[in-house]
Amino acid sequence: MARQLGHTIIEPRPALTPLVASDQWVKPLQGVSLENIKIQALPDPRLEQTGELLFTHFGISGPAVLNLSSWLGSRTGYPVKVKIDLFPSLSNEQLAERLRLCFRQNAGKLLKNSLSELLPRRMIQAVLSIAEVSPDKQVDQLSRAELLRLTHTLKNIILHIKGTRPLNESIVTGGGVSTAEINPTTMESKIVKGLYFAGEIIDVDALTGGYNLQIAFATGYLSGAGAASIS
Ligand SMILES: Cc1cc2nc3c(=O)[nH]c(=O)nc-3n(C[C@H](O)[C@H](O)[C@H](O)COP(=O)(O)OP(=O)(O)OC[C@H]3O[C@@H](n4cnc5c(N)ncnc54)[C@H](O)[C@@H]3O)c2cc1C
Repeated sequence: MARQLGHTIIEPRPALTPLVASDQWVKPLQGVSLENIKIQALPDPRLEQTGELLFTHFGISGPAVLNLSSWLGSRTGYPVKVKIDLFPSLSNEQLAERLRLCFRQNAGKLLKNSLSELLPRRMIQAVLSIAEVSPDKQVDQLSRAELLRLTHTLKNIILHIKGTRPLNESIVTGGGVSTAEINPTTMESKIVKGLYFAGEIIDVDALTGGYNLQIAFATGYLSGAGAASIS
């Protein structure tokens, strides 16, 4: 309807949406949740989020992923590679030292049974497979090269994101009526007098944290007040 009245519509797209990965190793991790990870867009490392990530049957979700998706949709597009750092607060050296300590405490045990204080069990299998380190190796027999590979993997897991879940599964819709055609102090259309816009129909969206509801409340208040003032 807004288009028919002459407004420019920025193509609607899922924002704050789970991401679909093409990597097959993700599927068995469905339900695994990781806290305090860092996820970063490889084409633009400035696009990064820290927080919780949840593996699903199609890819990844969780607060850090939803927020990153907001930027990917508008800045990089899809497909896109993302990097997950499972220990963002530790440098490579600190993480290697943490692993050495863990292995000393688990001397004689198999690798797959020695990392449970650092990672969820199902994640251990995935990480060892990506690092190409045998899960059935004793921790004492790990070579320096294998330790370095494991350390590197824990801080550099690459996921190939082919797209998002559909609009009806996203928390917010990006795109909508162009803000250039709306008076920001009244929310009245600059094209059609007496037409007001509020909420997600406008080309505005934000990260999680209540900002999208704030957009809806603030624009709703202004447009309601504006419409009520028409005599
Ligand atoms: C699961 C979920 C969790 C969320 N959590 C948060 C959060 O924690 N914090 C946050 O800030 N944002 C959150 N959001 C986003 C936030 O809810 C929306 O951005 C906000 O509600 C948008 O308000 P709106 O009025 O534009 O649209 P809506 O809230 O979608 O309201 C549109 C209304 O219009 C009605 N409608 C549609 N078509 C017609 C029609 N033809 N005629 C009459 N009525 C119609 C609909 O039934 C609906 O009631 C969440 C969204 C979802 C889906």
